[in-house]
Amino acid sequence: MKQIYFFDEGDGKNKKLLGGKGSGLCEMTRLKLPVPPGFVITTEVCKKYYEENKKLPKTLIPELKRNIKKIEQKTGKKWNSKSNPLLVSVRSGAAISMPGMMDTILNLGLNDITVEGLAEKGNNSRFAWDSYRRFVQLFGKVVFGVNDKKFDDVLDNAKQNQNVKEDSDLNEKSLRKIVSEYKTICQKHTGRKFPSDPYDQLELAIKAVFGSWKGERAIVYREKNNITKDVADGTAVNIVSMAYGNMGDDSATGVIFTRNPEDGTKEIYGEYLVNAQGEDVVAGVRTGKQVNKMKKEMPRSYNQLVETCKKLEKHYREPQDIEFTIEQGKFYLLQTRKAKMNAVGMIKTSVDMVKEKLIDKNQALARLQADQLEQLLHKTLDQKAIKNYTQIAKGIAASPGAASGIAVFDVKRATTMGENGTKVILIREETKPEDVPAFFESVGILTSRGGKTSHAAVVARGMGKPCIVGCSEMKINYDNKTATIEGKSIIEGNLITIDGSSGKVFLGEIPAIEPKMTQDFKTILDWAQKSKKIGIRANADTPEAAILARKYGGQGIGLCRTERMFNGRDRIGLFVDMIMAKTIEDRKKVLKKLGELQKSDFIKILKAMEGYEVTIRLLDPPLHEFLPNPEELAEKIHKLELKQDSKELSEMRVVFNRARELAEINPMMGHRGVRVGVTYPEIYEMQIRAVFEAAAFLAKKKVKAHPQIMIPQISSIEELNHIKKIYDTIKAEIEKKYNMKIQINFGTMIEVVRAALTADELAKTAEFFSFGTNDLTQATFSFSREDAEGKFLPEYMEKELLERNPFQSIDVKGVGALMEIGIAKGRKLKPGMEIGICGEHGGDPDSIKFCHGANLSYASASPHRIPIAIVAAAQAAIQQPKTKSKQ
Ligand code: PEP
Ligand code: MG
Repeated sequence: MKQIYFFDEGDGKNKKLLGGKGSGLCEMTRLKLPVPPGFVITTEVCKKYYEENKKLPKTLIPELKRNIKKIEQKTGKKWNSKSNPLLVSVRSGAAISMPGMMDTILNLGLNDITVEGLAEKGNNSRFAWDSYRRFVQLFGKVVFGVNDKKFDDVLDNAKQNQNVKEDSDLNEKSLRKIVSEYKTICQKHTGRKFPSDPYDQLELAIKAVFGSWKGERAIVYREKNNITKDVADGTAVNIVSMAYGNMGDDSATGVIFTRNPEDGTKEIYGEYLVNAQGEDVVAGVRTGKQVNKMKKEMPRSYNQLVETCKKLEKHYREPQDIEFTIEQGKFYLLQTRKAKMNAVGMIKTSVDMVKEKLIDKNQALARLQADQLEQLLHKTLDQKAIKNYTQIAKGIAASPGAASGIAVFDVKRATTMGENGTKVILIREETKPEDVPAFFESVGILTSRGGKTSHAAVVARGMGKPCIVGCSEMKINYDNKTATIEGKSIIEGNLITIDGSSGKVFLGEIPAIEPKMTQDFKTILDWAQKSKKIGIRANADTPEAAILARKYGGQGIGLCRTERMFNGRDRIGLFVDMIMAKTIEDRKKVLKKLGELQKSDFIKILKAMEGYEVTIRLLDPPLHEFLPNPEELAEKIHKLELKQDSKELSEMRVVFNRARELAEINPMMGHRGVRVGVTYPEIYEMQIRAVFEAAAFLAKKKVKAHPQIMIPQISSIEELNHIKKIYDTIKAEIEKKYNMKIQINFGTMIEVVRAALTADELAKTAEFFSFGTNDLTQATFSFSREDAEGKFLPEYMEKELLERNPFQSIDVKGVGALMEIGIAKGRKLKPGMEIGICGEHGGDPDSIKFCHGANLSYASASPHRIPIAIVAAAQAAIQQPKTKSKQ
C-alpha cells in the first residue's frame, strides 16, 4: 500500500484518501500553481494507526525519509542542517473540513542547531528565534497538551521585563530566554527532554494528528454533522515545506474568499497581515487588513492573488477559500477549498457563475444545499447580537424562524393578549386542536413535550410560525405561571426569544433580520421548476396559506386538514357543541352551520389554487382533542366547588363527563380518522356535502376548481367502500340539485401499514393515494410520534442505533419499502395513478430525492418549505435523470 503521495503524485479528486486539504494541494501542484513542495500521508495510514493500537506502521518511516529527501531536492534546503535548514508545517485534513481536529504545527524541524541556520539564511536572528518560540509553544500545546496559559505567562513576563507591549517588540535575547523556559514547561509536563531530532518531532506530530481524529471535539462534530464513515474515515497528514510570511515587510500571510461569502459579490474578500505567520491571522492575535489594501501595499503579489483566484475558480467551478503566504515577495498557496457561504451568497454565486458561463443551470442548482434556503424565507436572529443574550434552554427545532415576545402559559390569555396587539410566545407542555386560536394570535410557540410531527409542530409549520417542541428540560408550572430550567426560570410576562431554526430559547428580545426574496432566488426557483420531474404541492388549510404556497411555486394542495378549519375562534365553540350534542338531530343542526362555514372556506381555498388539484382530507383527529383536558377540567371543577358557583359547575361537569367518556388510553391508534367517519357518519356527510357545494358554486362562476376528497386512516377496502357509498349518495344529490356533473376524485391516505400492503385492493375504489408518512413512520417503528423525539430518539442517534430521525427524513429501508409496495400494487391496477406524499417528509430534501426515485407524482410540503422542496426535486432530477416520473 502506498502510504505517502508527494503533491505531484496525488489524485486531486481523491478526497477520501488524501483529505480535503491534501487533495487541494495535489491538484494545485498539478495546475502548476505555486505550492511549496510537500506530501500527504493518507487516511489509510490513520486507519492502520488505530488498527495497530496507536502505532505508526514500521514501513512508514523509510517512506517518510524518502519524501523528505524529495523536498530537499526541490527546495535546495537541508533537513536538520545548520545552513539553510528545511522546516515543515504539519497539518491535519480529513475528507470533510472539521473544526475540532488538530491545528497546524509550524516550523517543525527547529532545534538549537537549525535555528542558527534559519537566522543566517534570513539574515535575521530575531526572526529565527521568534519562529523557534512559536514552534515550541505550538508543539507543546498540540502534541503534549500543555495548557496555553503557561506559555502566555512566560511571554507576558518577558514583555514586562523588556518593558514592551507587543510580541513583535521582543528582542532576540528575550526570545532565547522564552524558548528555554518554554522547553522547561514541556519537560515538566512530559517528564522528558523536548525532542530536538526533527524526525522525532515529526513522528510525534503525525501521531498527534491521528490522535486528534478521535478527540472528543472531533467525535462530537462528526456526530452533529452526520459525518459517517462513508463520508470521511480517518484524517490525512500534510507535511509542507515552510514558506515564511514573517521574513520582513515584503512577507505576508492571508486568508481570503474568491467571492464575498456573505452576499456572493464577486470580489476578493478577506484579510492579510504583513510580516506574520498563518496562526496570527487565524487566532486573531493581530487584526488583519482588508485584502484590497494589498493592491497598493504589495501590487505584484496582489495581481498574482487575483490571477490565482481566477484560475482556481475556473478549475473548480466553485468560489474558493484560500490561504496564502508571501515570502520576501514570492507568492505561495497553502490551501484551497470550496468556500462556505450563507444562503444569499450561494444563490447569488449560482446565478452569477451561470452568467459568467463558469457553470450551467444544472450545476448551479446541484451545488445548492436545499435546506440552507430556509434562511431566506424566515426571520433569523442577528448573529452579532446573540452573544449579548443568555440562552436558557434548547428543544427540538420544529418550525423555523425567530420570534420575540412575552411568555404566556395560558391559552386564553395568550389569545386575548395577542388580539390586543401584544407579541406573545405561547408556552405549553403540549398543544391540542382547541389551542389553535392562540396559535393565530401568538408570534411563536414553545412546548416541553412532543416531536417534529406533534400537533404544535405541524400546526406552527403550516402557519409559518416559529416553534420549538420537546424542550424536556423545561418544567412548567401552570399555577405559578413559570417554567424552570435547571434552576433558571421563565416567569409569565418575561420577554423571551425563540429560534425555531436552532431550537434555542433566550431571555430578552434579540434583534432579528427580515427575510428577503431576491431576484436571484426567483431565478433559481424558476430554473428548478423547469428541471424537476415531480410536482410540489402544499399542506395548506387556510386561504392565506394557499395564497402563500402558490406565491412560492406550489402546484396545488396535497393536504388540506379540514379539522384545522374548526379551530378558528368562531368555530371551535360550534364544534364543541356538535360533540356535546345529546341527540343526532341536535348534532345535525350544529353540523349544518359548520357545513356552511366549511363550504365558504373551501371556496376561498379552491379559488386561490384555481387550475390545480386541492386534496381535502376529511376529519382525522379523535373528537376528545377538541374538548378541554379532563385533568384541567377536574381542577376547574374543584375550584368552582369551593366557590359554590352552581350554574357554571353543572355546565362544566357535563363537559367533563363527555371528555372522560371520549378519552382514550392510546388516542393516536384509537377512535380517529375514518373510524370517526364510520361511527359519526353525519360528520363526514357534512364535509363531503360542503366540498360538492363549493365545487358546484365555483363551476357556476366558471372558476376551474379541482377538489379531491381524501379519507384518513384507511386500513381496509371495506372501510373505504363504506365511505364511498356516502360520497356517491351526496354526489348524486348535489348533481341533481344543481343539475350538473361534478368531478371530484375520491382517494385515500396510506398511513396504516395494512393499507400499504393491500394497496391493490384499495386502488379498486381509490382514484388516488397519498402517503401519510407521519403516521406510517409511527406505525412502522411503533414509535409514538408525540413522544419519541423528546424521549429516546436523541439517544438512539447518539448511540448510532439510528442514523437519522425517521420523523424528519424517510426511513428508506422500512417506511420506504412499504411505500414501494403500495406504489407497485396501486399502479399495477391503475398504471397512471396519482400517488403523492403529504407527511412532513414532503418538505425534506433527502425524502424528496427518495420520492423522485420512487416515481411519486408529487410531494406536499408546508408553504414555507415549498422553495426548498422545488430545489430538492430539481436536484433529484439532475442526479437521477433517467427516472420516468409521472406528474
Ligand atoms: C401523516 O400521517 O403523515 C399525515 C399527513 O397526517 P397527520 O399528520 O395529519 O396525521
Ligand atoms: Mg396521519
